[in-house]
Amino acid sequence: MGMFIKILIASICVAYLAVKWTGPTFDPESLKGARVLVTGASSGIGEQMAYHYARFGAQIVITARREKVLQQVTEKCLSLGAQKALYVPADMSNESDPEKVVDFALEKLGGLDYLVLNHIGATRFAMWDGDVDHVKWLMKPNFFSYIQMAWRALPSLEQSKGSMIIVSSMAGKLSNPFTAPYTATKSALNGFFGSLSHELAMKESNVSVSICSLGLIDTDTAMNAVRGIITTPAYPASEAALNIIITGATRQLELYYPWYTYVMTLTKDWFPSLTNHLIRNAMNYNP
Ligand code: NAP
Repeated sequence: MGMFIKILIASICVAYLAVKWTGPTFDPESLKGARVLVTGASSGIGEQMAYHYARFGAQIVITARREKVLQQVTEKCLSLGAQKALYVPADMSNESDPEKVVDFALEKLGGLDYLVLNHIGATRFAMWDGDVDHVKWLMKPNFFSYIQMAWRALPSLEQSKGSMIIVSSMAGKLSNPFTAPYTATKSALNGFFGSLSHELAMKESNVSVSICSLGLIDTDTAMNAVRGIITTPAYPASEAALNIIITGATRQLELYYPWYTYVMTLTKDWFPSLTNHLIRNAMNYNP
């Protein structure tokens, strides 16, 4: 790698750290009693977010499809200090479930301070095989349910000066191989909620929108999917979850976690060929 590129990457890292250090400070007390709905909370990052919110003393509603697991997560949330912990099973690929879940949370918690949209439908980590129906289906849980829930929760979030937290991916900023349908849904989320964020600001809305772009996180789903193909290190789900919560609580527009996702997003625009080379080189693939 040339000296110029090394200096450039070092400068980006320094600028990133400077922005981080001068960012808003997080007050854990602000989450005591906060009314939170977390989707996709039966496993992975969503489950870890539920536990963090519980430790902060929040009132939580969690959702996913597996009722038994949701029940166990709720019990653990109560033991960790949640003021309230309730669950509602739902399938986000069903037309009516997203709105039903928001209505359940509004009724049980008396309103919402945080809407944390995190769930994803199952998809293969593989080259696209032309299955258009799968892409159409995946848009339901990964995209359409998000915008349905956001719209349903908006009046309550307006009242509470609340926040929407959108768990997206670096894939929504930067295309990767083996994830075409997933990448499409995450790009749709970034575009839609980026626009919505502008519109809310222009209407002088009380609601903040935080879009979280994550790199590889060590959840079972992700690790099983990339095993043998990606060898770059995965970052801890619990730390990712805490960073997402802090980003929402401090009403920041964006989170890049871990740090390299920000660098890759910047280098994509400045050095597209180099970035593509690095991405493809990080994958083991023998045709
Ligand atoms: P995960 O462990 O697979 O969790 C996904 C959650 O979604 C589970 O609670 C699952 O529970 C639920 N879910 C699946 N299908 C559903 C459906 N049809 N309706 C309702 N809920 C459904 O995933 P994760 O790795 O924690 O990822 C969480 C978020 O982080 C996602 O938005 C993902 O895109 C993002 N992210 C993750 C990584 C990573 O490397 N892990 C990287 C970038 C971004 P049930 O099976 O019980 O329904």
